[in-house]
Amino acid sequence: VASVRARITASYGVATLGTVVLFSIIVGFERRSSTRERLADEASATASLVGNMILRYGQRVFAADTLAGPRVQIPPNLAQSLDEMPGYVLVDDSANVVFWSRSVRRLGELAAAPAPPDTGALAGTAVSMKLAREAAQRDLDSLKAAAFAIRHSDVARIVRLTTEEVLLVGRIHDPPLANSVRRVVVGVPTRRIDEVTGKLAAITALLAPLLALLSSVAAWQFAGRAFEPVDRMVDDVAAISDGRSLHRRVVLDAESTDEFGRLGRTVNDMIGRLENSFAALRRFTADASHELRTPLTVIRANVERSMNTRDDAHEQAVALEEALQQVSRMTGLVESLLTLARADEGRFEIVREPVPLEPLVREVAETAAILGEEPGISVKLPVMQPVTVLGDVERLRQLLLNLATNAVKYTQRGGTVEISLESRHDEAIVTVKDDGIGIAAADLPFIFERFWRVDRARTRTEGTGAGLGLAISQWIAQAHDGRIDVLSRLGRGSTFAIVLPAAPRDLSSSNTALTNS
Ligand code: ADP
Repeated sequence: VASVRARITASYGVATLGTVVLFSIIVGFERRSSTRERLADEASATASLVGNMILRYGQRVFAADTLAGPRVQIPPNLAQSLDEMPGYVLVDDSANVVFWSRSVRRLGELAAAPAPPDTGALAGTAVSMKLAREAAQRDLDSLKAAAFAIRHSDVARIVRLTTEEVLLVGRIHDPPLANSVRRVVVGVPTRRIDEVTGKLAAITALLAPLLALLSSVAAWQFAGRAFEPVDRMVDDVAAISDGRSLHRRVVLDAESTDEFGRLGRTVNDMIGRLENSFAALRRFTADASHELRTPLTVIRANVERSMNTRDDAHEQAVALEEALQQVSRMTGLVESLLTLARADEGRFEIVREPVPLEPLVREVAETAAILGEEPGISVKLPVMQPVTVLGDVERLRQLLLNLATNAVKYTQRGGTVEISLESRHDEAIVTVKDDGIGIAAADLPFIFERFWRVDRARTRTEGTGAGLGLAISQWIAQAHDGRIDVLSRLGRGSTFAIVLPAAPRDLSSSNTALTNS
């Protein structure tokens, strides 16, 4: 069970870890997009503010003639205020930059810085400075290009600079704010977006393993408690190591109705069935060897007798005949055992063909009459209704013969045996009734058991059966989906009724036609 426990624990841990990580990924995405929206809003608000300030200055935003031609210019104190704005601020008249804030200006200054004197000792610094200048120029260019590319108000776009990423939002004014100043573009670094997700990732990295560990510990405890009954059951069942300890049972909590309770009860039921069949097997082996030993002893005695009486031919013949009788008794016994063994294994094929019972019953009655001749037992056939069943004619003959010979065997001299065949509803019923010694009510439940016999002293013909006849008979009846009912009273006689399902009408009629022709 330890491995199941470990598996459950591992699954819990992995599931918790997965859930926490998945949850933080979803939250992370949500936070990123909301932070980005907030940044865009902030940039947009700054752009509005800058627009308002320029509008307030109105005509004081003047056009100046420079060497490069007429240019719009921002008065110095407005420029000073605009420099207070956060991020990158660019103001243009849609063709030329009118103002750029300090951070943009810094990029420009860096790009335009004069190259340092090329002394050998400072070569490394010079190279890095050159690289920095180039980077600043590149950044400035991409910033300007992106700003000029903005054609609609409040649509955010991202520009990647060397050291950071910038979210640009523009505001286009039509008519122009003052003196053809049309556009304010504000850029804010996106660093805050990454900061948000970075913080979340850090929390997740710390919390997820902790939660996974906690749930694993809980799962380990829980699984341990849940599987306790199984552990106990394993020990209990392991203690039942051979046929002799089959009386033991798995200890169960009487009220438990859960799966383990049911499993325990099922295991106990199974052990019970095993105990029964082991006991039956032991009994059967003991009985069978006992039954075989008796005739062997008699055979041995008779063979010795015939060897010792070589001179007396008559005595020898009598001894050998007795031995032969025992041999045929043993043969019958072994055959019966084989039949039952095969039946137990389910290896016996029962042929299913229409069998009209009337001829079969008459034939068996004749045999019974022959057997009853010597003790003066009369065999009668009071009721004879034609009926057909589906089955194995040889097995059915054996079944009828068993009951008929028993009836003759267990009836005193001068008694009567009645065999009837009736068709009732969809059943064929063969009744074998005798007025013989009968069976005590206490013995009735056992007569179909193997090797079971009522005290042998009461039998008229001594030492004939081995107590297997009724067991075989019952098996044959059941194999034909039928049964044997018994009514008996001690000293009054017995009635055995074989009840078999009758064959469907169309089958039986065609067969009757066949047998009649
Ligand atoms: P057996 O070979 O001893 O006849 P069976 O299995 O046929 O074995 O019968 C089991 C026992 O049932 C018999 O030993 C006998 O005691 C009892 N029995 C069977 N049939 C009758 C009957 N018709 N009348 C009285 N007892 C019977």
